[in-house]
Amino acid sequence: MTARIIDGKALAERVRGEIAARAAGLAARGEQPCLAVLLIGSDPASAVYVRNKVAGCEKAGIRSLRFDYPADAAPEVVMAKLAELNADPAVHGILVQLPLPLQFDEAAVLEAISVEKDVDGFHAENVGRLSQNQEAFIPCTPHGVMKMLESEHVPLSGAEAVVIGRSNIVGKPMAMLLTNAGATVTVCHSKTRDLAFHTRRADVLVAAVGKPRFVTGDLIKPGATVIDVGINRLPDGKLCGDVDFDSAAAVAGAITPVPGGVGPMTITMLLENTVISAERAARRKGL
Ligand code: NAD
Repeated sequence: MTARIIDGKALAERVRGEIAARAAGLAARGEQPCLAVLLIGSDPASAVYVRNKVAGCEKAGIRSLRFDYPADAAPEVVMAKLAELNADPAVHGILVQLPLPLQFDEAAVLEAISVEKDVDGFHAENVGRLSQNQEAFIPCTPHGVMKMLESEHVPLSGAEAVVIGRSNIVGKPMAMLLTNAGATVTVCHSKTRDLAFHTRRADVLVAAVGKPRFVTGDLIKPGATVIDVGINRLPDGKLCGDVDFDSAAAVAGAITPVPGGVGPMTITMLLENTVISAERAARRKGL
């Protein structure tokens, strides 16, 4: 194995320490950061994500409010709760765990969250701001990836970057962030005709596909930085990424592991966005 391992867990711990200090400073000034999390339905993966987010808040000194709804919850009930939380000055971040049950219009739910409290960065206005390189809440997973690239001093200006996946929560915002950082970005997806042609040119390759060990070493340019966003559960219960770690690590220059790579950074960025929102609220109040 030749690749350097990019340790997302260690970086997340370091950044969470800084976030906890900022949260404590805010609390001392009377503005304790607070995140409200809504979970609708009983998807087991969603329940785990919500539990981890709430636990992450507690450790960082961020107050969390959790609201659980059954899978058959009426959309009006959830919308009413969002309106209440939008109006509550003690709440700085609001997150609705995705995916939602079928009776919900996902876009309408995301748009119902106040732009100022949209710490997931999924509101259309925040997406638009990001695309224009304006100040915005940045979606947590791609934001975490950028922090990792930054901490590893991976050169992005002028680099060839390839993102596999075009989802609203990972692939598209990832491509925008890399574009804003000066990379030449190619977005590949399920309709891409010759994936290897693109990936073999990538100095930075981000995999967000949702298919276990999909990216093998032969798709990677020697020395490339490989970021594995995928979280896939194998039949034996173990987690694995979208990258075939062993064959990829033999070719890449640097690589993120799964677990212990991008995953820990995602929640870290959620905590940071909540603290940023609380800092803005404190500034507005002159605290
Ligand atoms: P998604 O299913 O919404 O998108 C997957 C993308 O992969 C699609 O755009 C699709 O076009 C593309 N794709 C599918 N097959 C392909 C193929 N053969 N060739 C090229 N592209 C192909 O998934 P998502 O929400 O973007 O998540 C992707 C992965 O990242 C999943 O494993 C998910 O669990 C994981 N994830 C991890 C975190 C984290 O915190 N680390 C956060 C979100 C998602």
